[in-house]
This record gives sequence, C-alpha cells and structure tokens, in this order.
Amino acid sequence: MTTPKPKTVAIIGAGAAGLMAAEVLSSRGVPVQVYEQMPTAGRKILMAGKTGLNISHDEPLPTFITRYTPTDPLAEFVRQFSAADIRAWMNGLGIDSYVGSSGRIFPVQMKASGLLRAWLHRLEQQGTEFYYRHRCLGVVDNELSLAVLDKHGDMTEQFSQKFAAIILACGGGSYRRLGCDGAWQAWFGVDEITPLYASNVGVVRTWSPFMQSIFGQALKRVTATVGQECVHGDIVISHYGMESGLIYKLNRSMKDALDYHGKICLYLDLLPAKSIDDITQALNRNKKQSLNTSLKKIGLDAVKIALLRECTDKTDWSDFCKMADFIKKLPIEFDGFRPIDEAISTGGGVKFSAVNDKLQSKSNPYLFIAGEMLDWDAPTGGYLLTACLAMGRAVGGHVWQFVQGGR
Ligand SMILES: Cc1cc2nc3c(=O)[nH]c(=O)nc-3n(C[C@H](O)[C@H](O)[C@H](O)COP(=O)(O)OP(=O)(O)OC[C@H]3O[C@@H](n4cnc5c(N)ncnc54)[C@H](O)[C@@H]3O)c2cc1C
Repeated sequence: MTTPKPKTVAIIGAGAAGLMAAEVLSSRGVPVQVYEQMPTAGRKILMAGKTGLNISHDEPLPTFITRYTPTDPLAEFVRQFSAADIRAWMNGLGIDSYVGSSGRIFPVQMKASGLLRAWLHRLEQQGTEFYYRHRCLGVVDNELSLAVLDKHGDMTEQFSQKFAAIILACGGGSYRRLGCDGAWQAWFGVDEITPLYASNVGVVRTWSPFMQSIFGQALKRVTATVGQECVHGDIVISHYGMESGLIYKLNRSMKDALDYHGKICLYLDLLPAKSIDDITQALNRNKKQSLNTSLKKIGLDAVKIALLRECTDKTDWSDFCKMADFIKKLPIEFDGFRPIDEAISTGGGVKFSAVNDKLQSKSNPYLFIAGEMLDWDAPTGGYLLTACLAMGRAVGGHVWQFVQGGR
C-alpha cells in the first residue's frame, strides 16, 4: 500500500455508494483509496444484475420519492441525482439503458458486468486506488484500523492509517457472502443505530403437505392487503411461505403488523375484477357441481383453488356466500420473515439523527456515511440502487468541500 498523500480520502466499500463517491472525488483531483474486503468490487451490483440490473425507475419525482421511508432525507439526494441523471451517467460510460413496461430502468445488456467494468476502468483512469481483501476493523477520528486478508478471508496483517476524511459505504447486512456482514454496527453508539432488519424478503408460513404440488407457482393478478396498504400483482407460493415483488412492497406494513400483533395477516382478493355479488350468484348457479368445478367456472386456476382450500375450513366449502367472501378477502397468517441474510436489502442502520445533512457523523467530523448503511428503506424497483448512487454522489461532493477546508 502506498502512503496516503495529505488530502487522501479513504472509502470503505466498493459498492454502489462507495464507487460513486470515489468518482466524484477522483474526478476533482482528490486522492482516493478504496478499501474492500472482498477480492473484487461491486459484488452486490453484479448479483443484482443476475436477473437484470433494475437500476432505477421512470416515474415522476413526486411519486418516486414517496417510495422511501423516511421520505425527506432521501428525497433531497434523489432530486440531485434522479433516474434521468442515472441514465445519462450510464450513457457516459457507454451503457445504453431502456425503460421496461413497468417503468423499471435496465441497461440494454441487462447484466451489470459491462457497466461495472466500464465504471472501474474510468475510476482507475482518474487515479482511484483500490485495495481489495482489506477489511476495515474500526474508525477513531480520522484513523482507520485495517486488516489485510488472505484468500481464505483470514487476517494476515493489521495496520492503522490516518486520512483527510473517511467515507463508510459498507452496505447493509444481507448476503454476507458478498461482503455485507454488518460488522460496522459495532463501530457506533447504541443511540446512533437502529438494529438491522430484513427488507424485500419473503414471508414464512407452514403449509400442509397438500400445497406441495403448487410450490414455485404463481398466484396471478391478485390484490393483497395488509393494514392500510393494498397492492396488485403476482405472488409466488414457495415451500416456506410466499415471495415476490408484491410481498416486498408490503414488507413495511407486515413488519408493523408483526411488531404490533406478533403475527402478519395478509388478505387476498383472488378475483379483483369480479364483484362479490357476481361471484355469489355464479357459485349459487353452479352449486350442484363439485367445489373444484364451480371454482374453476368462476375463473380460479389450480393455484388459487389450492390456496383457497388450504386457508378455509372444510365445513365452509358448501356455503357459497362464505366462499364468495373468502375469494374476495382470504385471510392468510404468516409467522414472520425469511432470515436477514436472504433479504434483498436491510432497513435499520445508522440513524439520520446521527449524521447532519452532509451525511457527516455528528460524533466524528472526519466520518461520512452513505448507502444502505443508513437507516432507510424502499421496495425493489430500482429505488435501492438509485438512493445508494445518489447518496454516494452527494457525499462525494460534501467530502470534497470538507477536504478543501470548508467544513
Ligand atoms: C439479490 C439482490 C438483487 C438486488 N437487485 C436490485 C435491483 O435490481 N435494483 C436495486 O435498486 N437494488 C437491488 N438490490 C439492492 C442493491 O444491490 C443494494 O441496495 C446496493 O448495492 C447497496 O449499495 P451500497 O453501496 O450501500 O452497498 P454494497 O453495494 O452492498 O457495497 C458495500 C461494500 O462494502 C464492503 N464492506 C462491508 N464491510 C466492509 C469492511 N468492514 N471493510 C471493507 N469492506 C467492507 C462489502 O464487501 C461491499 O462490497 C439487490 C440486492 C440483492 C442482494
């Protein structure tokens, strides 16, 4: 490792937020050293790109910012670096993007590898230095405690280094195998941290053996309600419960329900296009037929019928009024969420009250924080990466001012 020049900035974490902060600083001539505990950069970005890198979302800004909890601090960053700015930035790296039918923005190539390769190349050209297999162990004032790791991830050497400023962009606490171990939580006081929780994650319920035949299949075009929140879309039935973008959108209300009632109750409308009167009449008309036949005739497929039978009592099956009620409002209880390590993102982390509007720690002026480490939450749909990139951009600018002497 080269001895840092006096104004060198250290960035911990070569993910979306850290790389964007490195871009801003190195483009303005600030020496930057990025420390990353994995052998290569951007592993979570690459993972996100496995099924198509949904980097942002094309919708009006006033709607866009409501996706974030809390809205206010995030809105400011996203206003400064919006979906349109992200598309222009990708274009500058030679990556074309497109807007899918759902409004989601993807690189034309879908995968993240081309974007990441071009980005790292530009950062290296700008003089950013990368130190892989280097784990940050903690921060005191402007001094970092660092460890060098061998190829098994074991520490071989430890050292301390002072910097002009330090940016922590260590990500959340899911997908430990990609480097996001959440170990940084120990570096903060208890009043500076909200415990991490799983977000954008599946929900858990024990199904009867009868459900096995529909594991992996989707409930198509249903409306799901938890508390006051109501969303429309598809849900995948899995061996452990339910999963899908629709479930992720409801995660926040589900968490509130779990915290408050100790369980999650989801209500499903299996036939949102049909009124309860129409369903009742149709069931009445077909009452001489078997339950499956009459349910099929009103438009329920095998997956919906299996779920309906699973979540209702046999004694109700001959009561077409009750069954019509269940088709429009089927209650399904869940015990909780899948483990945090499986979550697409984590909420919780460093509280916004622990940093100022420059994302500078209130307890250590040399320290800045960006990305999923901070205590915010959003559903999938490109909102997560947008916020991390936007925060990285903002923090890069603030740290640039800081090292110029304008604290
Ligand atoms: C399967 C999956 C799919 C996803 N799909 C999407 C999607 O399509 N769209 C979207 O918007 N978002 C998606 N996300 C979420 C998105 O990838 C993350 O929100 C985003 O990458 C977080 O950026 P970040 O910079 O905060 O942290 P990260 O990108 O996670 O980077 C943090 C880096 O810090 C390093 N690090 C951590 N601790 C230390 C330490 N002590 N010392 C040194 N280095 C350290 C880690 O190794 C890691 O490389 C997905 C996530 C997953 C898991």
